[in-house]
Amino acid sequence: MASQISPHVRVRFAPSPTGYLHVGGARTALYNYLYAKKNGGEFILRIEDTDEARSTQESLRGVVDDMVWLNLLWAEGVDPVTLKDVGPLGPYRQSERQDIYKKYADELLNAGKAYYCFLTDEEIEKQREEALKAGRSPHVNSPYQDWTLDQAKAKIAEGGKAVVRFKTRELKKDYILNDQVRGEVRFPSDMVGDFVILRSGGMPVYNFCCVIDDHLMKMTHVFRAEEHLPNTLRQMMIYEAFGWQLPEFGHMALILDEDRQKLSKRKGAVACGLLKEEGYLPSAVLNFIALLGWSHPEGKEIMSVDDMIQAFDISRLNHSGAIFDRVKFKWMNAQHLRALPNADLWKAIQPFLAREKMELPQDPVWQDKSISLFKPYMEVLADAIELYKPLNDKSYVILPEADETMKWEPTKAVLTAWRDLVAALPNEFMTEDEFLKLQDEVKNKTGAKGKNLFMPIRVAVIGKPHGAELKILVPLIKKSSLLARAEQALAKI
Ligand code: GLU
Repeated sequence: MASQISPHVRVRFAPSPTGYLHVGGARTALYNYLYAKKNGGEFILRIEDTDEARSTQESLRGVVDDMVWLNLLWAEGVDPVTLKDVGPLGPYRQSERQDIYKKYADELLNAGKAYYCFLTDEEIEKQREEALKAGRSPHVNSPYQDWTLDQAKAKIAEGGKAVVRFKTRELKKDYILNDQVRGEVRFPSDMVGDFVILRSGGMPVYNFCCVIDDHLMKMTHVFRAEEHLPNTLRQMMIYEAFGWQLPEFGHMALILDEDRQKLSKRKGAVACGLLKEEGYLPSAVLNFIALLGWSHPEGKEIMSVDDMIQAFDISRLNHSGAIFDRVKFKWMNAQHLRALPNADLWKAIQPFLAREKMELPQDPVWQDKSISLFKPYMEVLADAIELYKPLNDKSYVILPEADETMKWEPTKAVLTAWRDLVAALPNEFMTEDEFLKLQDEVKNKTGAKGKNLFMPIRVAVIGKPHGAELKILVPLIKKSSLLARAEQALAKI
């Protein structure tokens, strides 16, 4: 009997905790999340950890933390802190649902829709080779599909090792999927042979668990990556065998690198955790991945999650591959970063400055001023490190690249004049105008100009003759620090 699927939207993200959260996975999660929010439904996190050898607690922890970082929070699944089950239709970890899968596998066995198969790997391989030689389809052709259940059980009782296979022989010819992204997809059922649903140890396989769980967890829609399309045929067969109603499916196109190859980490970070370390903002990551295969109806590019929820429509998903343009990604991050209030941006760069153990003024006015001045030069939060380093007294060293400047004849006079004029300043910090005026005074006093003037002053401020613009940096450095640096430079001559 077909069960009734509630009209209340329920969608899920179902990661296998065998590695890190990849931007592709994050996009799948995001589209499901947006769909749920748009439709007042629920977004669920299910953990597909039946691959015992590859699933780890560490990976689960990482995936959950990355989802929390992205603020893609779920209504049911595992608790983000304890990783324990939360929600009425759990357990949400497949490794804890073995009994449920067994019960449904038994149902198919009893109905003759699945069977115990005792073929060994060698026998299967031999069959495959012979089939290929004879130009037949290489699918397994198991003699055990005609055994009665009692016969099979007797063999198991004698120690026989069996997998459970789903029987495809009597199925209809074609399966048609009305995919919400790709339109009509036609699968000839002979695309697959009798596939395994339970391994010989009793561990169920992905396609089987996925159907049981999507049904029992009352999923209305399944949006996932295109690479699962061949699985969908198997899953449709299982739904049919149980007489369950199919959820709506939508398969999202691949994300490609600039050279149109499948996105890989060779060209840069694809793991959400690494993006976080490089200083991408979660809002920018979400904005960027949202546009990998979807577009705002008014062509809007910079969006908040609320903007996305408002505008999200699965029919606007593109079914050709989306290009992961890293230059655009950085640009987009810069837009999000520059839109942050100064105090928030200051807070956001703290973990980056802490990596370098910087000691910077605690004064909020100074912090605000520094952010205003540096913001236009920041694309990712990690850029703050190089920008702020010259302001950190402990980082001041005279670098070997200053050697030549230090040997020039006018350098000593320039440095002396600079130090004396700085010492005479009335305030703790000078303004940009005061700095420019002071530089002119050094020029008048010493007669030095051009690089003979600018380079020694740079060395006295940042320890090298080239680099950041002094008129931005100097107003952020305390008079006492400027003096100490000037003395250090003079002492080198
Ligand atoms: N565990 C599968 C994966 O990580 C999920 C596939 C699905 O959404 O059905 O690819």
